[in-house]
Amino acid sequence: MKRIGILTSGGDAPGMNAAVRAVVRVAIFKGLKVSGIRRGYQGLLEGDIFDMDVSSVGDIIHRGGTILQSARCLEFIEDEGFQKGLDMLKMFNIDGLVVCGGDGSYKGAYRLWQHGFPTIGVPGTIDNDLAYTDYTIGFDTAINTVVNAIGNLRDTSSSHGRANIVEVMGRHCGDIALHAGLAGGAESILIPEIKFDIDEVCRKLIQGRNRGKLHNIILLAEGVGKPYEVSQAIEEKIGMETRVSIIGHLQRGGIPTAFDRIIASRFGNRAVELLIEGQGGRAVGINGDDIIDVPLEEATKPNDRYNKKMYELAQMLSI
Ligand code: ADP
Repeated sequence: MKRIGILTSGGDAPGMNAAVRAVVRVAIFKGLKVSGIRRGYQGLLEGDIFDMDVSSVGDIIHRGGTILQSARCLEFIEDEGFQKGLDMLKMFNIDGLVVCGGDGSYKGAYRLWQHGFPTIGVPGTIDNDLAYTDYTIGFDTAINTVVNAIGNLRDTSSSHGRANIVEVMGRHCGDIALHAGLAGGAESILIPEIKFDIDEVCRKLIQGRNRGKLHNIILLAEGVGKPYEVSQAIEEKIGMETRVSIIGHLQRGGIPTAFDRIIASRFGNRAVELLIEGQGGRAVGINGDDIIDVPLEEATKPNDRYNKKMYELAQMLSI
């Protein structure tokens, strides 16, 4: 292993820069050369590749987004595009590749590994939807963004005695809604892993109103359903004025939290170590406080895991 490549791919996440920084600095510290690849697999197959040194990653640990930029690249999923990417790695003398992204990016990395090219996945996605790792880079920053938004909405919700539906990201995985809902004291948390029951939401709102509660925050993961339909249903069923806020891409930006910077640095370090050890086709992650690695194939398996105990606690605390 003489030269490694690093790219960020798929949906960006705050803390990806800290991972890029760790990969570059650890690799150089251990005597390797590093190639940065811009715009994920798109940049790879176009040969948008440049040499990185220690100062290429100066002053970025605290920045959201990714200095390497990110992209979705459908061409790389096709055989011809994939082959172009593989050829580029050879042309630029890259011996191993670190891919920071979510499950889609992992599928690309796994395919490269199946073709004999060593790749290591670093989990970078705000959704926390990779089951093998407790946390992914960007999740902690995203939930803090949502908690701040809940705080603001709670003020205005109380002033007007309204219900506020807050839509957060999470098509299949309700972790953002669950964690931010628990931390923000949401009255209802609706996640895709659990069947949605409008009567249950309405019953809680009525109970709250009966005991003089003024604020009503309903956290809705995007995979559950359309927020405007839920708001209409609440108004029709119980006559409570309901507003919708969609947090959207605000969740994807911002200054990464210390937690995200720390796991990103640890993941980046482990990814380089694995490549130096001659390993490939692995994904790094965290289990408790231990940095772990599992086969990429396993890491891309769909998951419907959610923290049932945490969900039950949130239910209990919001009676
Ligand atoms: P994320 O990594 O955040 O889940 P995507 O699902 O958009 O984001 O995946 C990022 C990129 O990974 C895709 O645009 C594509 O280039 C690549 N990719 C996804 N699935 C495959 C696949 N089956 N084979 C090769 N590359 C893939």
